[in-house]
Amino acid sequence: MKKLIKNVNIVNAENILKNTNIIINGKYIEKIADTIPEGEFEIIDAKGGIAIPGLVNAHTHSPMTLLRNYADGYNLQTWLNDYIFPVEDRMSDDDAYWGSLLAQAEMIASGTTLFHDMYMFMPQVAKATEASGLKALLGRGATYFGNPLFAEHQGTIESISLFKEFNNAADGRIKVNMAPHAVYTTNDKFLMHMKELAEEFGTSLHIHLSETVKENDDAAAQYGKSPTKYLYDLGVFDVKVIAAHCVHLSDEDIAILKNAGATAVHNPSSNLKLGSGIAPMKRLMDAGVDIAIGTDGASSNNNLNMLEELHLASLLTNGADMNPEAVSAADALKWATNSAALGFEDSGEIAEGKKADIVIIDVNKPHMQPIHNLRLAVCYSAGGTDVSYVFADGKMLLDKGQLTTIDIEKVYFEIGKCLKRIF
Ligand SMILES: [Zn+2]
Repeated sequence: MKKLIKNVNIVNAENILKNTNIIINGKYIEKIADTIPEGEFEIIDAKGGIAIPGLVNAHTHSPMTLLRNYADGYNLQTWLNDYIFPVEDRMSDDDAYWGSLLAQAEMIASGTTLFHDMYMFMPQVAKATEASGLKALLGRGATYFGNPLFAEHQGTIESISLFKEFNNAADGRIKVNMAPHAVYTTNDKFLMHMKELAEEFGTSLHIHLSETVKENDDAAAQYGKSPTKYLYDLGVFDVKVIAAHCVHLSDEDIAILKNAGATAVHNPSSNLKLGSGIAPMKRLMDAGVDIAIGTDGASSNNNLNMLEELHLASLLTNGADMNPEAVSAADALKWATNSAALGFEDSGEIAEGKKADIVIIDVNKPHMQPIHNLRLAVCYSAGGTDVSYVFADGKMLLDKGQLTTIDIEKVYFEIGKCLKRIF
């Protein structure tokens, strides 16, 4: 049966439609109409709530929910080498499945419909995604330090098998890309090989880029150039690159990203928490670089709440640049719903003919009233817990704040067992 979302206000990055109704037919938004048409519908009463396009978490590591609030107060290198990597060495397939499902429950409950994930055990993340109803672009986070036999390396083998098994799985909800972890955790041959695989499979490449000053200093010492220039000289930007963090970029780096059609993913909470710095979002925007927003993993944030990232994305740049007009609410919403960056071009906007990836924000809350401006209410007043309904490809994943596809009590129980094993 078709679904009717009635009594709703639509807020896209580009436009606002007040007091309207949305009709969903299968996976698609069939009609947006001020009057309710004739017909049989499953009716969802938004009660004057705000419908926004599904939020897009453009950089995360979903199974890392298992390490939420585990290690605090360290810089990236100490945090990774002394705390995260040793625990990850003890993780198994089961841990990744339940950790990712917990992450996906959190993402659904706070309005995310599409996420971009990089981690190990990715078939398990794909299986959790099949179960949750979310949409995802998944890549096997691959590190490599050796030299010979790189083609037979575990990360490469698993990247290829993940693509073959899961690209376009779950009725097209899952796509797969290549995910070499970073310049400082790989080498030139490996990066070029991952790029060639992305080229061969017609997919994108996900990488951490210029997250810290140390990463830039090390690249300068080892290669005599910035991480971005290093990747450029290797030809990595011949494919679509989705680069996380992008905190420390020169004008030349930014020009490379722009000319390559790469996407810079802003991770404001993680960059603040690890003391990495504040990304130059205004410079990136002025240069015309495509921008998205991500939470990063739950261990360096420590939540996966995209409404918080959207909020910070605007506030942080305006404060850092001492310019209240640097990043507007519309800019931040555009970045936070940038599904095209992940290869999902048919969503990211509530409009007829688009995929029905829709989030309804409840406005019947003290902090949401009164509403002078709907878009400002989304960007500056709303929180993740205000999300009442979530639809992805037309399927309802959250109903009056309740998860419909995930048994959260079972997830908590299984996570308890995982933690006993790992810690
Ligand atoms: Zn990351």
